[in-house]
This record gives sequence, structure tokens and C-alpha cells, in this order.
Amino acid sequence: MDTPAADLVLYNANILTMSPRRPTAELVAARDGEIVWVGTNDDFGLFKGRSRLINCEGKTLIPGFNDAHIHIMAYASNLLSLDCSPDSAASIPEIQDKIGQAVQRTPRGMWIKGAGYNEFYLAEHRHPNRRDLDQVAPYHPVKLTHRSLHACVLNSFGLSLAGITVETPDPPGGLIDRELGTGEPSGLLFGMNSYLNEKVIPPLSEKELRQGIKLVNRSLLSSGITSVQDATVRNSFEQWETFRKFKESGEFAPRISMVLGLHALDDFKGRGINYGYGDNGLRLGAVKFTLDETRGSLNPSQEELNDGVLRAHQAGFQVAIHAVEESTVEAAAIALENCLRRSPKGDRRHRLEHCSVCPPTLLRRLKAVKALVVTQPAFIYYSGERYLSDVPEARLPWLYRTRSFVKSGLKPAASSDCPVVPCNPLVGVYAAVTRKAEGGQILSPEQVISPEEALRMYTLAGAYASFEEQLKGSIEAGKLADMVLLSADPSGVAPERIKDIQVEKTIVGGEVVWER
Ligand SMILES: [Zn+2]
Repeated sequence: MDTPAADLVLYNANILTMSPRRPTAELVAARDGEIVWVGTNDDFGLFKGRSRLINCEGKTLIPGFNDAHIHIMAYASNLLSLDCSPDSAASIPEIQDKIGQAVQRTPRGMWIKGAGYNEFYLAEHRHPNRRDLDQVAPYHPVKLTHRSLHACVLNSFGLSLAGITVETPDPPGGLIDRELGTGEPSGLLFGMNSYLNEKVIPPLSEKELRQGIKLVNRSLLSSGITSVQDATVRNSFEQWETFRKFKESGEFAPRISMVLGLHALDDFKGRGINYGYGDNGLRLGAVKFTLDETRGSLNPSQEELNDGVLRAHQAGFQVAIHAVEESTVEAAAIALENCLRRSPKGDRRHRLEHCSVCPPTLLRRLKAVKALVVTQPAFIYYSGERYLSDVPEARLPWLYRTRSFVKSGLKPAASSDCPVVPCNPLVGVYAAVTRKAEGGQILSPEQVISPEEALRMYTLAGAYASFEEQLKGSIEAGKLADMVLLSADPSGVAPERIKDIQVEKTIVGGEVVWER
């Protein structure tokens, strides 16, 4: 057989290809960003002297990780904010300390932003409130964002800039927490993050944006992530242009698939931009719907959801519905059933993002409409302890299911929802394989999957979720040369060690873009 010329050869590797045709190999060669040869060390002589050679010293090479649901801009802004995550601030005084220090170096009247706090893991087991923040920052507006991104706390200065007073009614889909007795806002706000970011807080400056993107790029590449799917419902043509700029300048190496909000659909269509438009660096993905339940009612309503989903489907788009609670998962199933009844044509691989609580009947209905699930195994690790304490026992077996999704053919793809939790895919693989929370508690052990299945969720299944499985997700000739070299084999080490595996090299399009 003829061997093609190559510009990069990785050999002496334990290659897990994710391709059923040839599950393992030792050598892979790439040219012009594409894989051209997958074989054994015996093929080494074919390429010697003609290309860059990397001896992998027996380490494990897998397809680059694909994080099927993250929020790039929110992550950038998180990385520029004070780190108030549980590892970094364990109590309200520790958060106050961080804000107090920022006050010293920030001109009066300028926003101070903190991110990543989680009241469950704070010593006080409660959300901070405006008074806690006022104590250290009376003359600066402060916004402290919850790790879930669905809640935040403003101090009094921040509330006044946002125009939120005792008289302000709860906005649609949002909730203003109030002090008992006075009815004054406590500072804690639910479901209002997007509103605040769009209308109240000044956008990142050009310099901040560039700095944030640089930090996100480094974080993703050092985690072995070569493709991301940005799942931000606010995304519009303007966001597309921002991503395009950072792709063209080479400042952001991972490939991006970007969802858009329904509000932006007509704008994209008007510009002649349809589903899948773009190139291997930046591609337009699904129309995203965020479905939640505030105080017992669905937002948007079932009718609005049905209409929106049908509209996006008929416009030729995949849809991605954020659904966490059982009621919202059911509403998403109803919308997809309605959509396929009215317009049965076309395999659109409609997605459920999170699908956190999924009882057996709903799982069957999702299967019947050929829905695909994008789940977050790392939530088990980072929030498992909280789930065990807050989620009713009867629902626990249906919470963040993995094995049931894999076995039922819902083709689950994995993601971090970063910045909701850190983006390291190996923590997700660990959690999917062990179902263990950070403190060692085990959630629904019957939901464990094998390391191979977990790796597939982070690679090939991710590519499938954005209709790109012909391009990437496995190490096969003809696919993009996106790979990651790991210090150990996740399917070969004791499960306990998976989360400690290091990324040694990250390769995008045949270029080593990060190494340890
Ligand atoms: Zn998300």
C-alpha cells in the first residue's frame, strides 16, 4: 500500500482511536491538518526523516476532547473575576476579604465582580446578601455570581444601579429575593444574570475581552479540549463575529460550534446563514431554548416553546433545549413530539441540554423522538454532595443518568457547562466511571459506565451532537488531526486515578498547541 507524505508522526503511542473498525493503534501520521495514516510502530520506517516525529513513550493518545456545552464569554468573564469558588473561598468572610482587597485597587464607582460561589459549600450554608457585601464595598457596585450562573448577589450600590427597589416586581423568569418583614431586596437575584449583563453592567473592554479569551484558550487547551460547543442562548450574529475575529487571529485554537438564540434566527437567515454554516474552525449550530420553572410555571410557556421549536426545525435547524427539572424535561419532550408530528422530515438530532431528572417514561418518549442528550458527568463530582442532601430520594436514581442514556441509545455527549464547573474532561470521565462526588459519596452506582464509554461521550459523541462525526471525534485517516496525549490510559489505571491523569500534549489540526 502507498504511504502518503506526512508532516507530523506520533509513534510509540497507546492509541485509543474510538473507531470501531480499528480500536487501537501505535502510530498516527498527519498532513495539512488531517490524519493520513493510522498503524503500528512497524510503519515507522515509511515516514522517518520526512516529518516531525514525536515519540509518545508508550503514553495514551486519544482524539481531542469535545466539550459539547460550555459558555466561552461567561468563562472569560469568570476568569477575569475574583475567584469565589468553594476551593478558593470557604466562607462569607473569605469572600468579603477578596472583595475588600479588590476595593483597594479599584476606583470608586467601578464594578467589582466575583464568581463561582456556591452557598451549599460555604461554612454558613447560606447565600451572601447585600449587607455582607456593603460592609466591605460601600462605594463600589458589586456583583457576585453563583456557580450555577442562575443566581447572583448585588450589594446596595449594585441594586441601585440596576434600579431594583422594594417596589420592583419580579421580572418574567426571574425572582428578587426579599428580606422578611421589610420586603426590601436582599441582594440575591435568580434568573436575572443575562439581564444584568446586558443592561446594567458595562461590557468587557476590548483589552479585557482579549485577555479573557486568552485565559479561556489556555485553560481549554491545557485540559486537552480541541472542540467546544458554545451553548449560550444570548448568542447572535454579533457574537458570531467576535468568535470569528478570535479564530482568524489565531488567539483561540479550539474549534467552536456556536448555538444561537431564537431571537437571532431571522437575522442569520436574512444573511443567508443556515445551520452548519462556517468552516472547521467556527460553525453555526443549534437554536437554543432555555426552559425553566420559576414558581411553578414554565418559562417560556408550553405553547411558546412548541411554536419556537417548530419554527427552528422548519428553518432547517437542530434545536437544543435546556431542561433540568422533570417538568421541563417533559415539556421539552412534548415540544419535540409536537414538532415531529407537524413536520416529520429530516434527522435533526434535537438535543436536550442537561436532562437532569429523567424518569423511565420520559426516557422512552425522548428515545421515540430520537432526541440526543448532552449531559454533565462532572456535576456528580462537584455537586454530588448537594444532590444527596437536596434531591428527593425517589428522584435520585433518575438524576444525571449515564448508563441508562448510553444503553437506551440517546447518544449522550458529555460537557462541563463551564464555567458552572471546571472544564477538565478527565474529572467528568472519572465521575461517569465511578459516580463519585468530591467527598467520596456515591450516587446511583447502577449508572456507572466504562472508561471507554465515557471517553466516547467526550469525543465521538460530541462530534455527533453537532453533525461533525465525519470530521472529528476519532483517530482515523481522513479526519482532522485533533488529538490529546495523556500521561496514563483512563481505561488502564485504577478508576480512582482517572481524575489525576495529566494532559501532556494537545494537538489541533496537526499542530502541537499546548504541552506540559
Ligand atoms: Zn449551560
